[in-house]
Amino acid sequence: MPRSDAKVFASISADGDPTAPSVILGRAVVLGGSVGGLLAARVLADYAERVVIIDRDELTAAGAARVGVPQGSQIHALLPAGRAQLERWFPGFSQQAVARGVYVASADVRRTYLDGRLKVRGSDVAVLSASRPFLESLIRGRTLELPNVEVVRGRVTGLDLSATAVTAVRYESMDGPGVEAADLVVDATGRSSRLGDWLARGGWERLPLTRMTININYATATFRRAESEPALGTVLAICSPGASGDIAGAMFTAIEGDRWMVMMGGYGDSQPGRTAEDLVRRLREDFPPEFRGVVESEMLGEVETYRQADSRRRDFHALERFPARLVSVGDAVSSFNPIYGQGMTSAALHASCLARYLSAEPDLSVAAREFFALQRVVVDAAWGISTSADLSRPSVSGPYPRGYRISSWVGNQIQEASVTDPTVARRFDAVTQMDRHPSYLATPGTVLRAIRANWRARRRAGHPHTP
Ligand SMILES: Cc1cc2nc3c(=O)[nH]c(=O)nc-3n(C[C@H](O)[C@H](O)[C@H](O)COP(=O)(O)OP(=O)(O)OC[C@H]3O[C@@H](n4cnc5c(N)ncnc54)[C@H](O)[C@@H]3O)c2cc1C
Repeated sequence: MPRSDAKVFASISADGDPTAPSVILGRAVVLGGSVGGLLAARVLADYAERVVIIDRDELTAAGAARVGVPQGSQIHALLPAGRAQLERWFPGFSQQAVARGVYVASADVRRTYLDGRLKVRGSDVAVLSASRPFLESLIRGRTLELPNVEVVRGRVTGLDLSATAVTAVRYESMDGPGVEAADLVVDATGRSSRLGDWLARGGWERLPLTRMTININYATATFRRAESEPALGTVLAICSPGASGDIAGAMFTAIEGDRWMVMMGGYGDSQPGRTAEDLVRRLREDFPPEFRGVVESEMLGEVETYRQADSRRRDFHALERFPARLVSVGDAVSSFNPIYGQGMTSAALHASCLARYLSAEPDLSVAAREFFALQRVVVDAAWGISTSADLSRPSVSGPYPRGYRISSWVGNQIQEASVTDPTVARRFDAVTQMDRHPSYLATPGTVLRAIRANWRARRRAGHPHTP
């Protein structure tokens, strides 16, 4: 009998020791050495004699922003489920990260607001907080210390394909064109992956791409943080469409190097951070008072802005024909509205799917359908969470899934109740932080509890009949 998505999700996000490795591949080639590629390479190191990562950037150990990851200067939250996977693949990762200066935001030093109202505490899990390049450099350090993993600097330009499978990767390097033969290729080249073009060039089906227009604008700045300010580590202020129009929200968190990283997001024409003064003013005036304390510190460097036009997913599981020995992970498969912080955690869960697929010693002469079936569960979960929230924005015009009106009503009840009811807040966090499958929230017990909590909250506020 097929297992439910919830059960598959639970097994993928398990944080136990990886299955005992067994070498079933000669050479595995990973395209792209960012978070998705590095985690895939870590998994492959257990199953391949040699793992080659090809990236167009120089992957140095230092935690500096790089051209191939243009979103790297924006604030990045690592969800607890992503941290659990990092710990699983790199035992002692958190401890090592903290020793290197990563900030740990325990539940005591985190606050979340919804439309200006302070939420009750949800998840008790401590969160690692670092800049995106620094976090990537820690993952890279652990991956590249594996004896069978190496990096080649080059821009991947295409694939060699037989009638049924991928056989090699072509790239351009400083020394000219190169070819890397491969028993398995993992595409981790991010949301602008050209895999579809490379396959079409070889006569294969084009990859279906689903997009949902979101037009989100990010602005991130860093500020000096005095060591005497440890009382509060992370504040997230979420704005719902009904209350705040096109403002998405704001967040600040302590990061390595005694700094605060602060972001504000807006949709459509709302473009925070056109100037540093404008960003500081809006953070000071439009958000909870904690933001004031942070933006009054010295700003370090410039305000960095970033616009993302859409959420997108490529449904490999739905393809009728697909070459063997080829899979895709991370943003190359699905990339969501970044405000929900799902990207790196999704990439980590894709790596977990890869481990499950390879540990079953699959038939590598056919397309990796078992892998895509597992990955589909992760993509659906993250896509469901982020797009159902985005669909309530006036600027977003679909596609609306079946049953959207009722699921949106239920979602609103639960989100609202997560402000006042600790049990609903814990369940809400477990799902939005990708620890649990979304079906964990959609139980009659949780929905009824949420409706009751909202009714009580309205009564306390003196509006017993507000719908
Ligand atoms: C504004 C913004 C904020 C975000 N905030 C969060 C957050 O809070 N939390 C979170 O978890 N995620 C967040 N994300 C998503 C996160 O950045 C990605 O999910 C994460 O980086 C994993 O992506 P990836 O490794 O799949 O691809 P990427 O990080 O995009 O890396 C792709 C890699 O492929 C390489 N590459 C590309 N093309 C080629 C080629 N032809 N040849 C060789 N190399 C190539 C690039 O150099 C790069 O190293 C955010 C994204 C954005 C845009």
